Parts: sequence; structure tokens; C-alpha cells
Amino acid sequence: MSNGPRGGSSRGGSYRAKKRLGQNFLANPAVIQEIVAGSGIEENDLVIEIGPGMGALTEPAADAAGRLVAIELDSDLVPVLRSKFALRDDIEIIEGDILETDVRRLIEEQKEKDPSLGAVRVIGNLPYYITTPIIMKLLEDEVPAASITIMMQKEVAERICASPGGKDYGALSIACQYHCTVSEVCDAFAEDFRPQPKVDSKVLRLDLREEKAASPKDEKLYFDVVKAGFSQRRKTLSNCLAGLCGSKAEAAGILEAAGIDPSRRAETLSMEEFARVADEIYEM
Ligand code: SAM
Repeated sequence: MSNGPRGGSSRGGSYRAKKRLGQNFLANPAVIQEIVAGSGIEENDLVIEIGPGMGALTEPAADAAGRLVAIELDSDLVPVLRSKFALRDDIEIIEGDILETDVRRLIEEQKEKDPSLGAVRVIGNLPYYITTPIIMKLLEDEVPAASITIMMQKEVAERICASPGGKDYGALSIACQYHCTVSEVCDAFAEDFRPQPKVDSKVLRLDLREEKAASPKDEKLYFDVVKAGFSQRRKTLSNCLAGLCGSKAEAAGILEAAGIDPSRRAETLSMEEFARVADEIYEM
């Protein structure tokens, strides 16, 4: 079997996937269909695709949408994509790094050009080595999207969906669930890709909330508390928050004032409980 995706490009199977760019191309039409259907794209929507690769998701997603703009880092793939979609004026391929792209500005420009465009839907089969930075960037930049539907390594998806009390629950779960409601779209397995990855995958849909899941007085401080809380998972909250609060004793005092036992660990706290701790620090 060649390294190229099944029927994925004008060059057939001659393209050699680049491991360093996380290139595992989708080769199962059923999975592609599930992702597009599960992403909730509607006729007039603007789709932003991250890492189109050979365009396996690009065409069906564009068919369902009003316009699709894809950002691809690999300069070898950009001309392949541009020639493949040369006759489609509703598909635009941008060469660039998603982590360096001003996605808010990109969306503004698209909407200025065509004010009739509807909701913004972000989709992608992400390069797994930068899944978390991509998600965090989209959330922290408050990209004005209705939803983000992305394929990722199964273990990362489990961390995103985790509830308090388990080993998977952490800063990533809170960041995603604070900004979004999270639902599972489908699973994918090694044989669904060319070349085959060594891990299983899952597609999640993150629907951006109109109101965040907690209402801390200072959002930046809230996430500083979450980050500090999970900085040493085995330690108690009073230990983890000592640096942020001045000392372990001060941290214990703040936690007690927030109604939280200082000997608890971060992984047991709900998003609202973290907000109570952050608000006590804020009031200090
Ligand atoms: N969407 C295609 C598919 O499903 O067949 C390709 C998915 S492949 C897992 C990830 C794609 O992201 C590759 O085409 C890779 O070149 C691209 N990529 C890697 N890093 C990127 C970055 N920082 N910005 C944009 N694209 C990137």
C-alpha cells in the first residue's frame, strides 16, 4: 500500500505523507460523511478548515456550506489543493500555520466580502501533536464560531470530556467545558487513515456557549487558579495554590473561605468551585 490517501489527489498515491506535520489522511468515506453531518454545517455557513491535507474533508464540507476557507501549512500540498479546487470559487486555500493565523480577522474579512454568510463552523482532522494548542488558541482568542468539530487522538478527547473525580479531568477539560458544550460525533480507527496512525481517534463537536459554564469575577485569574491547581496533581490544593496566594497557610485560609476543604485535590473540584476560589483570591 502506498503512503498516499485512497484517490485523494491528482497525483494519486505518489505523495509521501510527512510525519512531522502529523499527516494521516482520512481514507474512509463513511467517517468523512459522519464528520460533515455531525458538524452541523448549513447551506450558508462559513467553514474554516484546519489542515485540509489532500482535501478529503474539504469538498464534502464545502458542498454543505456557503463558503470554505482552509489553512494548510504544507507548501507542497497547497498547489495540489488549489489545482484540485480551481473551479470552485467557494473554496479558498490559505498557506499558513493555524497557530500564527489571526482567525478572528480572517472571519471578519470573509464576512465583509460576503455579508450574507451565516454561522461560522470550524472543522479539522487535526495534526495530533498540536491539538491542545490549537483548541486553546481558538478558545482564548474567542473566535466567533458556532461550533468546532475536530478529530483528535482518543485520549485527548477523553480528557476534554472528563468530569470531576477522574484521572482525565484537568485544565483542558475545564477550558473546553467552560467555553463550550461538548459532544461526541464518531470514533475512527487506524485503518480509516493513510498512512495508519498508531493511535485511535475520536471526533468531538464543541458548541460555543452563549454564557460560560461558570461566572468568575476575573476570567484570567480563574484560569490561573485552575492551572496552578493542576500543576502538581498529587498534591493538595493548599500546596498547589501556595505560590498564587503567598503561602500554604494563606491558600488554606482562602480555600476555607470559599467553602472548600484545603486537603482536597484539584481533580475533585467542579468549575463553579474553582470560580469560588478565584473570587476569594480576587477579593483579597
Ligand atoms: N484533513 C486531512 C484529512 O483528514 O485527510 C488532513 C489531516 S492531517 C491529520 C493534518 C493536516 O494538517 C496535514 O495536512 C498537515 O500538513 C496540516 N498541518 C500540520 N500542522 C499545521 C499547522 N500548524 N497549521 C495548518 N495546518 C497544519
